[in-house]
Amino acid sequence: MENCLFCKIIKGEIPTTKMYEDDNMIIIKDIDPKAKNHFLCIPKCHFKLLAEMTEEDANAVKACLKKIPTLEKELGLKNGYRLVINQGEDAGQTVFHLHIHILSGQKMGWTPA
Ligand code: AMP
Ligand code: ZN
Repeated sequence: MENCLFCKIIKGEIPTTKMYEDDNMIIIKDIDPKAKNHFLCIPKCHFKLLAEMTEEDANAVKACLKKIPTLEKELGLKNGYRLVINQGEDAGQTVFHLHIHILSGQKMGWTPA
Protein backbone atom coordinates (compact mmCIF):
# COMPACT_ATOMS: atom_id res chain seq x y z
CA MET A 1 0.00 0.00 0.00
CA GLU A 2 1.60 3.17 -1.24
CA ASN A 3 0.75 5.72 1.38
CA CYS A 4 0.71 3.48 4.42
CA LEU A 5 3.17 4.46 7.16
CA PHE A 6 3.54 0.90 8.45
CA CYS A 7 4.04 -0.57 4.96
CA LYS A 8 6.84 1.98 4.53
CA ILE A 9 8.37 0.94 7.86
CA ILE A 10 8.13 -2.73 6.82
CA LYS A 11 9.90 -1.90 3.53
CA GLY A 12 12.65 -0.12 5.47
CA GLU A 13 11.78 3.27 3.95
CA ILE A 14 11.27 4.92 7.34
CA PRO A 15 13.75 4.43 10.19
CA THR A 16 12.49 2.63 13.28
CA THR A 17 13.73 0.71 16.31
CA LYS A 18 13.18 -2.90 15.35
CA MET A 19 12.80 -5.43 18.18
CA TYR A 20 11.95 -8.50 16.06
CA GLU A 21 11.18 -9.44 12.45
CA ASP A 22 10.20 -12.55 10.52
CA ASP A 23 8.15 -13.37 7.39
CA ASN A 24 4.83 -12.56 9.10
CA MET A 25 5.53 -9.51 11.25
CA ILE A 26 7.73 -6.74 12.46
CA ILE A 27 7.84 -5.56 16.10
CA ILE A 28 9.01 -1.98 16.65
CA LYS A 29 9.16 0.58 19.44
CA ASP A 30 6.24 3.02 19.40
CA ILE A 31 7.52 6.52 18.63
CA ASP A 32 5.21 8.07 21.26
CA PRO A 33 5.10 5.59 24.17
CA LYS A 34 1.93 5.43 26.28
CA ALA A 35 3.49 3.10 28.89
CA LYS A 36 7.00 2.46 30.20
CA ASN A 37 7.41 -0.07 27.38
CA HIS A 38 5.32 0.39 24.26
CA PHE A 39 5.86 -1.73 21.16
CA LEU A 40 3.83 -2.31 18.01
CA CYS A 41 3.51 -5.76 16.46
CA ILE A 42 2.65 -5.14 12.80
CA PRO A 43 1.62 -8.01 10.52
CA LYS A 44 3.36 -7.58 7.15
CA CYS A 45 0.11 -7.97 5.22
CA HIS A 46 -1.75 -4.68 4.79
CA PHE A 47 -5.34 -4.63 6.04
CA LYS A 48 -7.22 -2.03 7.99
CA LEU A 49 -9.72 -3.67 10.31
CA LEU A 50 -10.46 -7.06 11.85
CA ALA A 51 -13.75 -6.85 9.96
CA GLU A 52 -11.77 -6.94 6.70
CA MET A 53 -9.38 -9.73 7.68
CA THR A 54 -8.84 -12.55 5.16
CA GLU A 55 -7.78 -16.09 6.13
CA GLU A 56 -4.21 -15.21 5.15
CA ASP A 57 -4.31 -12.06 7.30
CA ALA A 58 -5.73 -14.10 10.20
CA ASN A 59 -2.81 -16.52 9.94
CA ALA A 60 -0.38 -13.59 10.24
CA VAL A 61 -2.25 -12.26 13.30
CA LYS A 62 -2.18 -15.76 14.82
CA ALA A 63 1.58 -15.86 14.25
CA CYS A 64 1.86 -12.48 16.01
CA LEU A 65 -0.14 -13.66 19.02
CA LYS A 66 1.97 -16.82 19.30
CA LYS A 67 5.27 -14.96 18.91
CA ILE A 68 4.70 -12.10 21.37
CA PRO A 69 4.81 -14.22 24.59
CA THR A 70 8.08 -15.84 23.45
CA LEU A 71 9.78 -12.42 23.53
CA GLU A 72 9.39 -12.01 27.29
CA LYS A 73 12.90 -10.68 27.85
CA GLU A 74 13.15 -8.46 24.77
CA LEU A 75 9.76 -6.81 25.40
CA GLY A 76 9.85 -6.75 29.22
CA LEU A 77 6.78 -8.97 29.62
CA LYS A 78 7.80 -10.81 32.81
CA ASN A 79 5.36 -9.12 35.21
CA GLY A 80 2.47 -8.99 32.77
CA TYR A 81 1.53 -6.99 29.72
CA ARG A 82 -1.40 -5.63 27.78
CA LEU A 83 -2.27 -6.04 24.09
CA VAL A 84 -4.49 -3.45 22.41
CA ILE A 85 -5.91 -3.33 18.88
CA ASN A 86 -7.57 -0.01 18.16
CA GLN A 87 -10.40 -0.27 15.65
CA GLY A 88 -11.81 2.86 14.09
CA GLU A 89 -12.50 6.40 15.12
CA ASP A 90 -13.84 6.03 18.68
CA ALA A 91 -10.86 3.87 19.62
CA GLY A 92 -8.52 6.54 18.25
CA GLN A 93 -7.02 4.43 15.47
CA THR A 94 -4.63 6.68 13.55
CA VAL A 95 -2.75 4.22 11.33
CA PHE A 96 -5.02 2.11 9.13
CA HIS A 97 -2.79 -0.93 8.88
CA LEU A 98 -3.82 -3.36 11.61
CA HIS A 99 -1.34 -3.51 14.47
CA ILE A 100 -1.18 -4.84 18.01
CA HIS A 101 0.02 -2.47 20.74
CA ILE A 102 2.15 -4.21 23.38
CA LEU A 103 2.26 -2.33 26.69
CA SER A 104 4.43 -3.47 29.59
CA GLY A 105 6.86 -2.47 32.32
CA GLN A 106 4.37 -0.88 34.73
CA LYS A 107 1.10 -1.44 36.53
CA MET A 108 -1.80 -0.33 34.34
CA GLY A 109 -5.21 1.03 35.21
CA TRP A 110 -8.43 0.45 33.32
CA THR A 111 -9.54 3.89 32.19
CA PRO A 112 -10.24 4.48 28.52
CA ALA A 113 -8.43 7.71 27.71
P1 AMP B 1 -3.22 3.61 16.54
O1 AMP B 1 -3.56 4.96 17.12
O2 AMP B 1 -3.81 2.45 17.28
O3 AMP B 1 -3.51 3.57 15.06
O4 AMP B 1 -1.67 3.46 16.75
C1 AMP B 1 -0.71 4.07 15.93
C2 AMP B 1 0.56 4.13 16.74
O5 AMP B 1 1.64 4.34 15.85
C3 AMP B 1 0.60 5.28 17.76
O6 AMP B 1 0.79 4.74 19.08
C4 AMP B 1 1.79 6.12 17.31
O7 AMP B 1 2.52 6.64 18.39
C5 AMP B 1 2.61 5.11 16.52
N1 AMP B 1 3.48 5.67 15.50
C6 AMP B 1 3.19 6.65 14.60
N2 AMP B 1 4.24 6.87 13.80
C7 AMP B 1 5.23 6.00 14.18
C8 AMP B 1 6.56 5.74 13.73
N3 AMP B 1 7.12 6.41 12.72
N4 AMP B 1 7.27 4.79 14.38
C9 AMP B 1 6.73 4.10 15.41
N5 AMP B 1 5.47 4.29 15.87
C10 AMP B 1 4.74 5.24 15.27
ZN1 ZN C 1 0.11 -0.93 5.30
